[in-house]
Amino acid sequence: MVRGLIRSWLTRTSRSETARVTAVRDSQRWSSLEWKGPSLVRLTDAHARLDSRRAFRASDWWVVGLPVVAGLDLALYLTLQSRPGALAVRLWGWAPPALMAAIALLAGGALTSALRSKTTWTWFRGSAFVGICLLVWSVSAYLTYPSSYDDRPSAVPFQLPLTGPVTVAWGGPTHRVNYHVASPSERWAYDLLVTSDGRSYQGDPLEVQSYHAYGREVRAPAAGLVHAVHDGDPDAVPGQPDRHRRAGNHIVLEVAPREYLLIAHLKASSLAVQAGDKVGAGQLLGLVGNSGNSSEPHVHLHLQDTPIPDTGEGIPLLFTSYRLQGQSAVVSRGMPLGGQRRGRFFGQIVESFPRPVIL
Ligand SMILES: [Zn+2]
Repeated sequence: MVRGLIRSWLTRTSRSETARVTAVRDSQRWSSLEWKGPSLVRLTDAHARLDSRRAFRASDWWVVGLPVVAGLDLALYLTLQSRPGALAVRLWGWAPPALMAAIALLAGGALTSALRSKTTWTWFRGSAFVGICLLVWSVSAYLTYPSSYDDRPSAVPFQLPLTGPVTVAWGGPTHRVNYHVASPSERWAYDLLVTSDGRSYQGDPLEVQSYHAYGREVRAPAAGLVHAVHDGDPDAVPGQPDRHRRAGNHIVLEVAPREYLLIAHLKASSLAVQAGDKVGAGQLLGLVGNSGNSSEPHVHLHLQDTPIPDTGEGIPLLFTSYRLQGQSAVVSRGMPLGGQRRGRFFGQIVESFPRPVIL
């Protein structure tokens, strides 16, 4: 027993002695290296690299900023997805743009740090860079405004405002078929016009008269009370929208409590109703024009929960009793889809069926 303990102590002592001798030999080897020129340079470089991996540099500010911006991004996303109505409208105006600016700043910091400072990549710098890529991707969550009415379409039966085949330039639930989706009040808006072989005009594209939709009668899509009208704006030259006049000549029609239908870009002096008038579905409202912020003659219409244009939230608007071109089946209630690219229209072409009552 005692002999065993002594043997064990001797063994440990000899091991620690061996370790000490090795350490001394190593230190002598390192110190001898320091006196050899090229070896010294190699050693200094190795130390510098190690220090670079360990050290936190001022140029790493973007790594610290990442979790802050990611947290704000998540908080904003969850808040908007809870569809808080008026709060979402207020936030939408500035929070997503501010977030995008912050993400762009982080991405710029990461790239500058990588290119100019010749940053040594470590796992935390690498994962932060991946995190920034994810943040950039998360911006796609802010392309479409989350309206509190998204799952609650209006119960009002709407008919198409134009007779004959109507092409949906923009309309529908996603940004691919409807560019309006980023605007709170226009979330479910439509742009309607008339096409022939995918083209909306024939002749000089700078003349409003060249467009198939120009001057067509616009009829009330639903019965309601005319809340407000605006007239007197001239037609804009196609391709040169008058951004200051926004909706141009327009009518706001109250079709149900807290449901206001905006019909925009009408031709000047063509409005056939006044504020306070009661109109029936199918009644003449005016003629298609190109007033206000309009790139070419068309009818813009959308439903929102406030009477002032560009305020409040958009409400899904479904058309009743229409047929898609080339199909015999009648859609009893639906949302026709838009789509266009490089001046050609490939949205759905729809026509009321049976022909609506014209008042
Ligand atoms: Zn529009």
